[in-house]
Amino acid sequence: PGWGHNRKVSYEQLEQILLDTPTAEHAEEWSRYYTAGPHIAGKNFSQAQWTKDKWESFGVPSDIVPYDVYINYHVDHRLALLKEKKGKKDQDGERGGSTWNVSYEASLEEDIIDEDPSTSLPDRVPTYHGYSASGNVTGPLVYVNYGTFQDYEDLVKANVTLKGKVAIARYGGIFRGLKVKRAQELGMLGVILYTDPGDDGDNTEENGHAVYPDGPARQPSSVQRGSTQFLSFLPGDPTTPGYPSKPGVPREPVDAAIPSIPSVPISYQDALPILKALNGHGPKAEEFGKYWTRNAGLGYKGVHYNIGPTPDDVVVNLYNEQEYVTTPLWNVIGVINGTIADEVVIVGNHRDAWVAGGAGDPNSGSAVLNEIIRSFGEALKQGWKPLRTIVFGSWDGEEYGLVGSTEWVEEYLPWLDNANVAYVNTDVAVRGTFLRTSAAPLLHNVIHAATAKVLSPNQTVPGQTVHDLWDKKIRTMGSGSDFTAFQDFAGVPSLDLGFTTDWDSPVYHYHSNYDSFYWMENFGDPGFTYHRAAAQVLGLITAQLADLPVISFRAADYAHALDSYVKQVEHQLERALSPSVDIDAFTLLDDDAYFEIRGCTRNSSTSSAKTTTISKTATAESFKTSLARLHKSVEKLTKHAVRLDQRADDLYQKLTEGIPWWKWPAKLKLGFELRKVNTKYKYFERSFLFEWGLDERSWFKHVVFAPGRWTGYAGAVFPGLVESIEDEDWTNAERWVDIIESRLKNAAHRL
Ligand code: GLU
Ligand code: CA
Ligand code: ZN
Ligand code: ZN
Repeated sequence: PGWGHNRKVSYEQLEQILLDTPTAEHAEEWSRYYTAGPHIAGKNFSQAQWTKDKWESFGVPSDIVPYDVYINYHVDHRLALLKEKKGKKDQDGERGGSTWNVSYEASLEEDIIDEDPSTSLPDRVPTYHGYSASGNVTGPLVYVNYGTFQDYEDLVKANVTLKGKVAIARYGGIFRGLKVKRAQELGMLGVILYTDPGDDGDNTEENGHAVYPDGPARQPSSVQRGSTQFLSFLPGDPTTPGYPSKPGVPREPVDAAIPSIPSVPISYQDALPILKALNGHGPKAEEFGKYWTRNAGLGYKGVHYNIGPTPDDVVVNLYNEQEYVTTPLWNVIGVINGTIADEVVIVGNHRDAWVAGGAGDPNSGSAVLNEIIRSFGEALKQGWKPLRTIVFGSWDGEEYGLVGSTEWVEEYLPWLDNANVAYVNTDVAVRGTFLRTSAAPLLHNVIHAATAKVLSPNQTVPGQTVHDLWDKKIRTMGSGSDFTAFQDFAGVPSLDLGFTTDWDSPVYHYHSNYDSFYWMENFGDPGFTYHRAAAQVLGLITAQLADLPVISFRAADYAHALDSYVKQVEHQLERALSPSVDIDAFTLLDDDAYFEIRGCTRNSSTSSAKTTTISKTATAESFKTSLARLHKSVEKLTKHAVRLDQRADDLYQKLTEGIPWWKWPAKLKLGFELRKVNTKYKYFERSFLFEWGLDERSWFKHVVFAPGRWTGYAGAVFPGLVESIEDEDWTNAERWVDIIESRLKNAAHRL
């Protein structure tokens, strides 16, 4: 590494600084600050200012970058269960006017807990949905399970009336806004989203665990707030698709990007009487198969999970009033200038939170980011200067729909396109102890390298690293956090990581008042040691990307991933061709696989009713040949990729050996070669952008990665192609093969 350019701090020393500087105590201090008051988008200026001042005190010049964005603030809401009392018949048999009695009025509030001060702050945030529609609707109820595309399809196929009804769906798996989107498309009046404790894992009250704050189980009044924007269609400010929300810019209509029917998030305590009102009405969820009873956890409280609809005399009234405003929000941007001005590494997390605490989301990330910056500041003090420029971002408005980061990327696109090497994201950096990662394939090896250098806070064998205790799974980039605009709009290879929960961890109260400092201190990360580890891992990743002469990418990893994605599409096609095969290997599915299947618009277990016509088979058969072309292009790309990595390795070798100063022509040649290799790496991911974007969601420009159109969080590979196959639109599928082929050729050419 030490490429003789006369630096006071060697690369090895830099790594040591990044491992030694972060402390649990500092992370805890930042966490205390950030969890002490509300920080909803557009209402956190003091925290933006504080963040800027902190970063500058660490030695990193910073600025506040504002945008004027369209968002909603809560005004009022109501959710009530009503029962009609028919008027008495008179002598002629005529019925008198009926009255509607309120059989349950939902509290729509989270309990105050004495031990946990964040639950009683006077300006705590009400329970509502970002970008939800105002409305006042009344109608019978239908239980729609998780509200995935397939859940609704199952109901449609069973002739359950959805139009004119109010949906009650449980949270989980797919992005909540897509649950509302599908309900809206099917003519439903509104959506109630509740948290089912069955989805929490082993630590439930039913299993005998005490509820928060006395134990690890979910507090029954906890509510998951969150955005209901149609995230997989358009992130960012819905009024400025593709361009920055600067003051005075023209604004577009929002109908395609956010719901027009109201929705409300509720706790399971509030959901109980509503779900019980469905008892005895319509089919039972279990009649729809295992997908419908998976983790349904309120049976012990008397819920039968009937689908409904409830009879016309049992209805809910859902009233939601939201004020929509165009208001400033504030990103904080810090910069450490490197020697090479047009190679930039960006590291970010969001600062806005749904709740006053938000100790996990996002303040574990904010605390960790501060520790990373403080560590780089320490290196600067010792005379270090990075090779590449490092930019730090504290994004605002993520919770509404990645607003701060998206507007910033849209504004700086020309610069990013030219200079941005990679984007490193963390959001909930800590909510448990299991490392969870997603990344573009170019960055896989960086994650492996960095995690192997950080000691695990929980060593069962002395010396165990984070890498040792990691499941080594790296997911593809979907959405749900601030990497989206970098990866899918700008074509910048991105990664996202954090320590998460598993099935037997203490329950994390996502977007609830109980995601508080008190919870973090007692359940999430007592001692804040995982905060420290996250800062170490992310610091090392940043250093490796910013400060090694040869950019640490592996093009071959990308090529191999592409090959496996083509195979995935082939499997998908096989499934489409034999619709009678039932994927009821359900119990084998982990969460990701489950929701990938339930989030797609077609799957064999429910499409068995479809007859496979001969002509369809014929078209699909001939389509196989087209797909084979992609294998060819990937093969070619692989050759180029392997060669580039080889060149990079040779270069690395030579640079490490060092060349004495009097051999300057050789050194100069090496410098040229370095620039060439790095430029190829830098632009590689950009080759996969397609300027017209995906069908019906043209903001998404990447042909390899996008959030699944009906999953949101989970990523889809070759989304345009996969969706055409789902839709059985073979002409369009052919078109997508052409587009992808051209992108693969483009990539090979650039290598
Ligand atoms: N992390 C936020 C959520 O999952 C993101 C919101 C969005 O992407 O729209 O609610
Ligand atoms: Ca915009
Ligand atoms: Zn977050
Ligand atoms: Zn969040």
